[in-house]
Amino acid sequence: MARIVQKFGGTSVADIARIKAVAATVKRELDEGHQVCVVLSAMAGVTDQLVGYAANAGGAHYSPEFDSVLATGEQVTVGLLALCLQEMGIPSRSWLGWQIPIRTDGVHGRARIEAIETEALEQSFADGEVPVVAGFQGIGPDGRITTLGRGGSDTSAVAVAAALGAERCDIYTDVDGVFTADPRIVANARKLDKITYEEMLEMASLGAKVLQTRAVEMAMKTGQRLHVRTSYSDAPGTLVVDEDEIVEQEIVSGIAYNRDEAKITLVRVADRPGIAAAIFGPLAEASINVDMIVQNVSADGKATDLTFTVAKADLDRAVKTVEARKDDLGFTDLLADPNVVKVSVIGVGMRSHAGVAQRMFETLGEKGINILVISTSEIKVSVLIAEEYTELALRALHTAYGLDAE
Ligand code: ASP
Ligand code: MG
Repeated sequence: MARIVQKFGGTSVADIARIKAVAATVKRELDEGHQVCVVLSAMAGVTDQLVGYAANAGGAHYSPEFDSVLATGEQVTVGLLALCLQEMGIPSRSWLGWQIPIRTDGVHGRARIEAIETEALEQSFADGEVPVVAGFQGIGPDGRITTLGRGGSDTSAVAVAAALGAERCDIYTDVDGVFTADPRIVANARKLDKITYEEMLEMASLGAKVLQTRAVEMAMKTGQRLHVRTSYSDAPGTLVVDEDEIVEQEIVSGIAYNRDEAKITLVRVADRPGIAAAIFGPLAEASINVDMIVQNVSADGKATDLTFTVAKADLDRAVKTVEARKDDLGFTDLLADPNVVKVSVIGVGMRSHAGVAQRMFETLGEKGINILVISTSEIKVSVLIAEEYTELALRALHTAYGLDAE
């Protein structure tokens, strides 16, 4: 008997028929003799609708009341699944974050899980029930409901799996697994059987929307194996595992892209100690995440250009924040460009192979695509290019790295 946590995303619980299919998937594992705990998202589209309501009511994105509205989507689905299971003669009960409790910090709208008490869930198991846990929510230090940020039910599932010492954490979704590239753009993308935590982390943070980045971080930290798979069949998906579980590692495992980047260039910023802190400190204080940063060596020792990227949604705030300090920073111009995309090639095999970046630059060059910013890490090369070249770049790179399906 294994203990399994199954997580189902919004499209997998989109209506009663789909929820009944989820109940059947739960039953399949129970029939194998396994113990199952389920973690759910809200029905597809519901959280967006709730965000709309709260915003129209004047709600700030990061407030206790906003969270109390947003968290209701999952309350509906957990109750419905427990009902469907009961209908099938399977004892089950729903659990809200505060009832378990799933304790988080007090950062509303993007709370982090700090601890999960397992007594109640263990008791639920001991009583022969299938516990159905509301994802995406927890309880803050002041006793208020918190939410974990969009896509947060993945993180809930991994955290619950780790807390319960689950052998498997199956993430059921509407795609077959993790692909070498977005199959909607690259027609001959392949499903990967296995991918390492590190690669998955890069893929997730680069916009491959299969898993929330934080969920992957948590899985990596706790060594929790994940299985990303479709809720439409029992076909195997992609295992997210430790590097040494992968026997034949490709040099490049996937090509990812993120359209949610906007570029800001400060022209002729003063070149003196403390200047970077003076720019990025206020952005951090405004909770604006900065992604890529490039600064040139100044030719005259006085001033240099500095380029960085932020999320598109943060662009206006970032521009205002930096412009408010124009006198202090001494730049002559601020250029903002939302029409950019970050394209990345990812693979742990890069650590031991040279020439990966070169192939990327060559391939883009041959297609006449200009590179605006480059950044690299041990297992990734990213470039920022004009957004209109997204498709062309992805397809060309997919072929260049030999990832195309036969
Ligand atoms: N329902 C939440 C959202 O749409 C959490 C999730 O689906 O993971 O972001
Ligand atoms: Mg999701």
